[in-house]
Amino acid sequence: MNKFVTIFTLILVCGLSSATVDAVARPSSNYADLNNQLPDLGDPVDRTLSKADEQKIGAEVFDKLRSQVQFIDDPLLLRYLNDLGNRLMASAPGTHFPPNFMLINSPTINAFTVPGGYIAVYSGLFLFADNESELAGVMAHEIAHATHRHIARMLAQQSGNSAIVIAGFVAALLLGSINPDMGAAAAATSIAGVTQHEINFTRMHEREADEFAIQTLQRVHIDPHGLITFFEKLERQSGDNRAAQYAFLLTHPLNNERISAAEDRIARIPSAQLGTKDSLSFQLARARLAGLTGDLKIRLATAASSNYRQAVYAQSHGDWQSARDLLSKLYREYPGNLWFGLPLAQVLFAHGHTEAAQSLLNELLALYPGNSILLRQSVLWLIKTGDPAQAYRTARETMERDPDNRTIVLTTAEAASAAGDRLGSHELLGKYFLMKNNLVAAHQEFELAFSYSAGNPLAQKRLDAALQKIEAEAQPIKN
Ligand SMILES: [Zn+2]
Repeated sequence: MNKFVTIFTLILVCGLSSATVDAVARPSSNYADLNNQLPDLGDPVDRTLSKADEQKIGAEVFDKLRSQVQFIDDPLLLRYLNDLGNRLMASAPGTHFPPNFMLINSPTINAFTVPGGYIAVYSGLFLFADNESELAGVMAHEIAHATHRHIARMLAQQSGNSAIVIAGFVAALLLGSINPDMGAAAAATSIAGVTQHEINFTRMHEREADEFAIQTLQRVHIDPHGLITFFEKLERQSGDNRAAQYAFLLTHPLNNERISAAEDRIARIPSAQLGTKDSLSFQLARARLAGLTGDLKIRLATAASSNYRQAVYAQSHGDWQSARDLLSKLYREYPGNLWFGLPLAQVLFAHGHTEAAQSLLNELLALYPGNSILLRQSVLWLIKTGDPAQAYRTARETMERDPDNRTIVLTTAEAASAAGDRLGSHELLGKYFLMKNNLVAAHQEFELAFSYSAGNPLAQKRLDAALQKIEAEAQPIKN
C-alpha cells in the first residue's frame, strides 16, 4: 500500500473527530479513490523517485527521526548551519534541493543525507571540526551525495518497493546507525529485501562526492584542504576501533587511495585561489554548541570563544548573573555582534530587566532589519508581557513584508493562537508545514482551521482549495 494512502486514511479519522467537536464539516473528500490506486514504479532513477517524491520521503524520514533523536533547535546555530549549507548547496553541481540542514544532539561523529536534500550534522562532528573549512568540507561532501542522488540511485535498483517501504527503510537504517541496538534496521531490511551494505555509499560514490565537494568549496571560496585534514584526523583517531563514535566512517568508507585522489585534485588549485580556512562565526558557533551540549573540555581557538562557551553554559543552566557578566563584557568588546547581543538581551529579560532587554533588542533590530530570529524574540516577549494583540499585529506586519520566511510564519501562528484567533493560527501552521514539505501535518492544520471557519465563506473557500491541492499532490507516485 502506498504511504500516502495510509497516512491520509489516518487523517480522515482525525478530521472527522475534530469536525464532530466543532460542528463544521467539509462537504466532500476524495480519499476513498486513493485506496484503489497502487504505486506504479518505473526503472530509471527519475521515474522511481522523482525529485518531488524524494523530498516527500525526506520529510517523512525526518518525521520518524524526530521522535527518536534529539534535534538542537537553537535559532543562532541553525541560522549559521543553514547559511553555510545554503551557500554550498547553491554552488554544488547536480540536482538542487531546497536546503534543510539539521543539527542532532549526539557525541557521535557523523553526518548523513536523506533523499530530498535533508542533511543532518551531529553535534559530535561539528565539535570535532577545528575550523570552518573542515565543517564545510564534510557538508559539501554530504551535499554532493544529495545533489547526485546517490541514495535514490541505489534504491532505484530495488524494483517494486513503494515509497512507504523506502521511507521506512531509510529511517530504520539511520536509526540503526544512531543506535545499533535498536534492531529496527534488521526489520526494515527484511521488508525491503535490501542489505545494509547496499545503502552504504560505494567507493565510487565516495570519490565522486569528494570531487564535487572540492569543486563546490572552490566556488564559494572556502579552502578545500579541510576535507582532507578532517578525514585524516578521523582516520588517525579511530585507528582500528571503528566504533559507533566514528559512525561516519561506517557509511562513508575511507581509504588512502581516496585521500590521495582528493589531495591530487586540491594540489592543482593555485594557492591564491584556495579561499578562506576559518571564520569568526564558525568559532562562535562551535563555542555556543560546546556550551549548550555541556562540552567544557574541547580546546577553543580564542579567549573570546572560551568565555562565550562559559556564558552559554551559564545561561542554559539559569545562572543569569554569570551569563550576564560574561556576555556584557563580550558585547562591549564586539558591539553589535548578534552571537553576544541576543543572548545578553535574553538573560536581561529572564533576570527581570525587561526594559534593558527590549532596548537592546531594538538596538539589534536596527542593525539587522528584518532578521527573523530577532523579530521572533520580540513577538514572543510581547506575548509573555501580556500584549498578545500587539504581538499578533507586529507579527502580521512582519509577515506581510517577508511572506516566505518560515520562522516568521510560525511566529505569527503562535501570536494568533495567543490572541485567540484559532482559525488564523491553524491556517498559518498549515502554511508553515507546507513550507516544510510536511503535507500530512499541513493537511491536518488546514482541516482544523476549517473546523473554526463557521460563518466565514471566504476562509472556507480558501481552505478548501488548499486542502484539495494537498490531496492532489499526495496522489500515489506516478511515472
Ligand atoms: Zn560519503
